[in-house]
Amino acid sequence: MEKIILTGDRPTGRLHVGHYVGSLKRRVELQESGEYDKIFIMIADAQALTDNADHPEKVRQNIMQVALDYLSVGLDPSKSTLFIQSMIPELTELTFYYSNLVTVSRLQRNPTVKSEIKMRNFEASIPVGFFTYPISQAADITAFKATTVPVGEDQMPMLEQCKEIVHKFNAVYGETLVDPKILLPDNEACLRLPGIDGKAKMSKSLGNCIYLSDTETDVRKKVMSMFTDPTHLRVEDPGHVEGNPVFTYLDAFSNQGHFEEFWPEYQNLDELKEHYMRGGLGDVKVKKFLNKVLQAELSPIRERRKEWEKDLPAVYEILKKGSEAAREVASETLREVKAAMKINYFDNDDMIREFMAAYK
Ligand code: ATP
Ligand code: MG
Repeated sequence: MEKIILTGDRPTGRLHVGHYVGSLKRRVELQESGEYDKIFIMIADAQALTDNADHPEKVRQNIMQVALDYLSVGLDPSKSTLFIQSMIPELTELTFYYSNLVTVSRLQRNPTVKSEIKMRNFEASIPVGFFTYPISQAADITAFKATTVPVGEDQMPMLEQCKEIVHKFNAVYGETLVDPKILLPDNEACLRLPGIDGKAKMSKSLGNCIYLSDTETDVRKKVMSMFTDPTHLRVEDPGHVEGNPVFTYLDAFSNQGHFEEFWPEYQNLDELKEHYMRGGLGDVKVKKFLNKVLQAELSPIRERRKEWEKDLPAVYEILKKGSEAAREVASETLREVKAAMKINYFDNDDMIREFMAAYK
């Protein structure tokens, strides 16, 4: 069986370092591993509209931003197909048929959707499209026959929902859809990177992000203003590293080389943490180190972005070509789905033949 990746991002804002450690970095590694037959990377504009119906211009503007983010982290259009979700109407059609295989109570149990509803104060007025977006995500994944979906932890319930749809569909209509596997980051800190405000998740919708496209100065300012341990008032006080986003970011980003280069007083992160917990190490020093680590990671991304920004029509063309290629794949799957459901009346003359035979 072919090894196929499908993953994507909502164009609700520029991409941030949470996306980077949660999914983008892994995608580039998988792309470069050469182990995958096809890689599809989707800008999920239709999904973004499910909670941004009143702000279509926001979604529209962020499509090119996200594309630039993709290219700047090293996604390569000659190896990965970059495309825009709404340009593939077949995905909407699949969603419609899959909706019949999912109950309202099943959707209500989705913990990610539940917390997103709370976060958006939607309780009394949940848009139907938003409530059902896990079904549309199942359409995205299955349309490309994805075997692997590299995403952050918040996507686990979506993958479970998708697998249930695949099993149900195959049981009812015959083996048609491919069962996908989730691929989570192996570093725990990357599963769900917190915001610079210490909130549980760095999220475009919460405005607590360090963006991949932030300037060097922006990044430094954000790092220096980060939430840390509120009980660590004086340098001498013992500090906590648990729930302290500065240390979570170091868990996610720093490596041995960073210590050798920027802070050789410490062998590694464990030693640094020990000192912080013992007391006698100020937050400013740790933040300065984190800033150096982040700048080291972000500067090649920034450079690549500058290059692509010089040729925006080429970026636009990549999305256009990618969307055409993706549409071909999705329409083949839709054809198979409709054949399995026997709603392919005009593919052949079976329907009229069967009817006439019974009619006699
Ligand atoms: P929105 O607030 O509009 O939902 P978002 O920041 O949650 O935006 P998405 O486009 O929904 O971003 O998510 C894209 C991908 O990035 C998903 O695979 C998701 O799991 C991952 N991701 C998003 N935020 C984080 C985070 N803070 N840490 C790790 N992974 C993340
Ligand atoms: Mg999200």
